[in-house]
Amino acid sequence: MASVRVAVRVRPMNRREKDLTAKCIIKMEGNKTSITNLKISDGNAGEVLRDRIKTFTYDFSYDSMDSKSSPFVSQEKVFKDLGSDVLRAAFEGYNACVFAYGQTGSGKSYTMMGNPGDAGLIPRFCEGLFTRIAATTRWDEASFRAEVSYLEIYNERVRDLLRRKSTQTYNLRVREHPKDGPYVEDLSKHLVQNYSDVEELMEAGNINRTTASTSMNDVSSRSHAIFTINFTQAKFDSEMPSETVSKIHLVDLAGSERADATGATGVRLKEGGNINKSLVTLGNVISALADMSQDGGNTNLKKKAVFVPYRDSVLTWLLKDSLGGNSKTIMIANVSPADVNYGETLSTLRYANRAK
Ligand code: ADP
Repeated sequence: MASVRVAVRVRPMNRREKDLTAKCIIKMEGNKTSITNLKISDGNAGEVLRDRIKTFTYDFSYDSMDSKSSPFVSQEKVFKDLGSDVLRAAFEGYNACVFAYGQTGSGKSYTMMGNPGDAGLIPRFCEGLFTRIAATTRWDEASFRAEVSYLEIYNERVRDLLRRKSTQTYNLRVREHPKDGPYVEDLSKHLVQNYSDVEELMEAGNINRTTASTSMNDVSSRSHAIFTINFTQAKFDSEMPSETVSKIHLVDLAGSERADATGATGVRLKEGGNINKSLVTLGNVISALADMSQDGGNTNLKKKAVFVPYRDSVLTWLLKDSLGGNSKTIMIANVSPADVNYGETLSTLRYANRAK
């Protein structure tokens, strides 16, 4: 099974880019994404020209409504391609992780949460989960339980977004259970019975996240938010009753511009350094997993021993048992279409490219 799937999604031009009369430098064809460096002029021959356009192939390349050449990709399509796989994994008892990566303003929250009337992956996934539970006719054969938690990692420290009293305190400890794996001590878990329960908690958590961010200098673009659904299924239809638990993590990562904090000093350096650590480690972990799954497919090659550095950051440590193995991992890299963001966009495309 291909354990990591990677998609790139470009958003429409925003107001600022339009005001700057920015040019679109992203082109998508099938599952390929190309980026053009407009600083290298068309007229230059040979070597230089090779650097002008770079093309990458992903599992999916999702175009925006600005594009004239290929069709606009809706939230529904993204869910159908990627979210429904995660839903299937959950019901089959596997863990899964969905990451939204990209610079601030590139569309991470839009992809994960969406806008009112234009729901993103998380609400669609939750709705799908409850619809499927409700459609289970034989309740004497199975029972389900869903619990959610919502946390934020900032500066390699963890805070519960669903506990009112801990608004400003990033003091939760990450521990590792010998059998159940890494967990956050004292993290609150909330039983949910339907989608509106989830919505309520998600809203409370998001308010908690943004309230802190105004008083703490835009923490939300510097922190990682992990929304987790613990999904338990008990089956009684055989001699041996069984229980499976799947953990589904939906992760809105810190803005990728924080991955490169060169020139920063003091608090920003510390902060930049730590965020760098989580994003860089995630890149290393996913890339190691991608290498492993490639080797696994080639029976002629002796399987390469790949070290996966889960413990190098809080983010990857916490997600350890949902990354690799039988888990489903999805990375959606979000990019701006505009030439003014060339550097950030190219680095996002490269990061996503390493994950394949
Ligand atoms: P981020 O979470 O990466 O900082 P946002 O998700 O907040 O970025 O996106 C910035 C703005 O662009 C928002 O107003 C959002 O609604 C809009 N946007 C992002 N992606 C798309 C898209 N694919 N289609 C339409 N609007 C989008």
